[in-house]
Amino acid sequence: MAAPNLSRMAFRSSKLLARPSHLLSAQLLMQMQSPSPLTRKMSVDAHSVASQLNSSGLLRTQGLIGGKWSDAYDGKTIKVYNPATGESIVDIACMGGRETNDAISAAYDAYRSWSKTTAAERSKFLRKWYDLLMVHKEELAQLITLEQGKPLKESIGEINYGAGFIEFAAEEAKRIYGDIIPAPLSDRRLFVLKQPVGVVGAITPWNFPLAMITRKVGPALACGCTVVIKPSELTPLTALAAAELSIQAGIPAGVVNVVMGNAPDIGDALIASPQVRKITFTGSTAVGKKLMAGSAETVKKVSLELGGNAPCIVFDDADLDVAVKGTLAAKFRNSGQTCVCANRIIVQEGIYEKFANALRDAVQNMKVGDGFSEGVAQGPLINEAAVKKVETLIHDATSKGAKVILGGKRHSLGFTFYEPTVISDVNSEMRISREEAFGPVAPLLRFKTEEDAIRIANDTNAGLGSYIFTNSIQRSWRVAEALEYGLVGVNEGVISTEVAPFGGYKQSGLGREGSKYGMDEYLEIKYVCLGNMNKE
Ligand code: NAP
Repeated sequence: MAAPNLSRMAFRSSKLLARPSHLLSAQLLMQMQSPSPLTRKMSVDAHSVASQLNSSGLLRTQGLIGGKWSDAYDGKTIKVYNPATGESIVDIACMGGRETNDAISAAYDAYRSWSKTTAAERSKFLRKWYDLLMVHKEELAQLITLEQGKPLKESIGEINYGAGFIEFAAEEAKRIYGDIIPAPLSDRRLFVLKQPVGVVGAITPWNFPLAMITRKVGPALACGCTVVIKPSELTPLTALAAAELSIQAGIPAGVVNVVMGNAPDIGDALIASPQVRKITFTGSTAVGKKLMAGSAETVKKVSLELGGNAPCIVFDDADLDVAVKGTLAAKFRNSGQTCVCANRIIVQEGIYEKFANALRDAVQNMKVGDGFSEGVAQGPLINEAAVKKVETLIHDATSKGAKVILGGKRHSLGFTFYEPTVISDVNSEMRISREEAFGPVAPLLRFKTEEDAIRIANDTNAGLGSYIFTNSIQRSWRVAEALEYGLVGVNEGVISTEVAPFGGYKQSGLGREGSKYGMDEYLEIKYVCLGNMNKE
């Protein structure tokens, strides 16, 4: 099966209409029976975007194994949905263990030659891939908005950010240096070589459909590893388009493989295989722990980028405008669905009321809607389960005394749209303070002293992103050092970049991605001792 063509897309739509109504989702059925002008517009946008992508060859529906696009061996498919409309975009191959084992074999075979290429050669391939990602920036961004829902402007930001990891890896490939160690004996020479770990299994989530992949695959390929990627079944299309561009960049068959579908089967196959030498995972802490435990069987290297519970501390001496702007970005980006989204906004008592009012006013101005519509700042949540979680956490908080000062319910647009929400009088005992909300809810907690703020902020098993707003240089150093977090933003709400290390303390993960530190995750260190140097 090749990439779907325009007529197939049209056929899919008519087939959908002809299907008995009980096979259609209630949402989609409602929409077809009485389409509002808004849903009609969304529909047209989504279909025209899919058509354009299709004609540029970037709308792929099959997995990639050893350089060949492949259906699931049993022909199974699953649907990918547009979260803004509830409509299905396309059917994709639903793969499992057998396809994964073949992808591992392909990656293992390709590793023999890819690991022997020079750093300069790998750098050129990666640079070409980066160039193609940038050439197709608009289409890839549309694909992200289509399957993930974030506003188009944010999707374009993700392409720049995601492609940046490939560019950085292309440059860094040439700087994987070893060492010479002064020997303790005169007839010896001691060397340290850095070599690729081997085949890498890369499992990624839906919230950044491109960037979570490139920040693993860029350094892996730069170091000489080959990869089997498993994107989320909710957002596989961006991953497949990126894989198509890796082929167009000339990256040899088998170096990049993609399988998607039955997550536990694919995960089990990756873990069980002794040929896979590393698992790199971004996603929930619960799944990360399973993969870590499973990897023990074959003692694989493991990198984990897991859930967060980011504190955002606003001190009395903060610049109010900077704090509100920073909090807005840290909290509501991607509808609150990032691992570094501010989860607890901890505000000092002197500025609490002023800050709460200013934040509420700023959030009130955010336009909610389909990510393709002009001026939209917040798209839908990824699915119904995500909305239910937000509802549950808000209900728990309000039942224990928190007050909704803005939003607090589903948006009138329906589907999985939720109103941007601010709630006050939250405390550390409420579930919303202890769990990652992963939605557009800003819970405000109150504190008295700097020590209180640090204690509240560190009172969690997570340790990924954190933010401080203060005008005191001394305080910013003190608090940044005291926070048990892998990332600290001072007077800034968006701090992720490919040139800096990203990763968590405590149960937020192991290892770092991005920057020179991210390269080490894909390298083995080999010590070579050359003896008997004085012998002729
Ligand atoms: P998730 O449910 O853990 O899914 C992540 C990936 O794991 C998906 O590809 C999923 O596949 C797959 N998966 C699920 N069960 C599996 C299993 N038994 N074996 C192997 N793979 C399995 O997480 P999510 O809900 O997609 O993502 C949200 C979470 O990711 C949040 O906690 C967020 O904080 C975290 N996150 C962390 C970072 C970071 O850098 N630390 C970045 C982004 C997100 P399917 O989707 O196909 O089921």
